[in-house]
Amino acid sequence: MNVPILDLGRVRQRIASQLDERWRRILDQSSFILGPEVRELEAAFAAYLGVAACAGLANGTDALILGLRALGMAPGDEVIVPAFSFFATAEAVVLLGGKVVFADVDPETLNLDPRDAAARVTDRTVGIIGVHLYGRPFDVDALLALCERRGLWLLEDAAQAHGARWKGTRVGGFGQLAAWSFYPTKNLGCFGDGGAVTGNDRDLVERVRSYGNHGQTSRYTHTAIGTNSRLDSLQAAVLNCRLALLDEDNARRGEIACRYHGAFAGVGDLRLLPDGPDVKSVYHQFTVRTERRDELMAHLKDRGIASAVHYPSPLHHQPALAGLVDASDGELPVATAAAREVLCLPVFPELTNEEVEAVSAAVRGFFGA
Ligand SMILES: *Cc1c(COP(=O)(O)O)cnc(C)c1O
Repeated sequence: MNVPILDLGRVRQRIASQLDERWRRILDQSSFILGPEVRELEAAFAAYLGVAACAGLANGTDALILGLRALGMAPGDEVIVPAFSFFATAEAVVLLGGKVVFADVDPETLNLDPRDAAARVTDRTVGIIGVHLYGRPFDVDALLALCERRGLWLLEDAAQAHGARWKGTRVGGFGQLAAWSFYPTKNLGCFGDGGAVTGNDRDLVERVRSYGNHGQTSRYTHTAIGTNSRLDSLQAAVLNCRLALLDEDNARRGEIACRYHGAFAGVGDLRLLPDGPDVKSVYHQFTVRTERRDELMAHLKDRGIASAVHYPSPLHHQPALAGLVDASDGELPVATAAAREVLCLPVFPELTNEEVEAVSAAVRGFFGA
């Protein structure tokens, strides 16, 4: 049996007829840019999250960059970023001339460690980017308390956490802003690039929207230097189809995760990310850790089972950041070890129980369990 890491063809089948209808309407109306599909998505996603406002953008990286700009981040400002995330989280800060200060991640959850973050705050720190890594919310209470104590903003990188909950509330409205990606592999993904910011401060979200449309506040009045970062109508239509299925999809991911938890308990040196009373993960990834990661990955590949490493190096090892960050493996031991040990297994909603069984059996077989 071949088990893929993701199969977007199966997604397409589920939404094909509704999508054809929406796409035909866009083509008939020639409403390609900022049309009704984009407005519908923004309103529906804000309502889904329970936040005041949402602005569609071209991608998640722009959501971080324009979000940071709207928060007033200026060259030389220090921003605390977890050392274990996708590159864009740090890239956005550097692109705007800010100084990335890496904090380590928690050894149990691999999310930003609030105590380590607190230890890295200086008088030049302006904010923190928390990442809800793998769809599992970070410790929202601890980071909000730290931000309040030190007068910092919190930007949520929610690119992997569509629908995830912290103490019952969906993420995306805890920080001053949240940045979302709708890249095809995300829990809510389109068939190209897409992104958004959300928040409870309407003015702040509107500022991001304006930055994404050449700094316009009304047609041909440019009150700021912005850029072109608009969400495409054809992509918004995909998202409108998929948003209606998101809770069902996330529930199925949770069910698969539950099966994996059952199958892997006490197997070899496998470590799983804990579920907890405060967090409801949406399992963007199902991540295991083992010292034999590369061997396990090869063993699965031999049996036709795909897996992936997110991420093979901690951010302070990235060549582009050399000389820009003061960070060492010794100071960031958890992120450094995680990059050697993590392996992500197939967990997409359309995965069949037989496929989940095949993955479980192959992993257990590797450890002789
Ligand atoms: C995907 C992702 C991004 C970037 O989103 P794009 O839409 O690909 O630009 C940023 N941060 C994290 C954590 C991501 O997973």
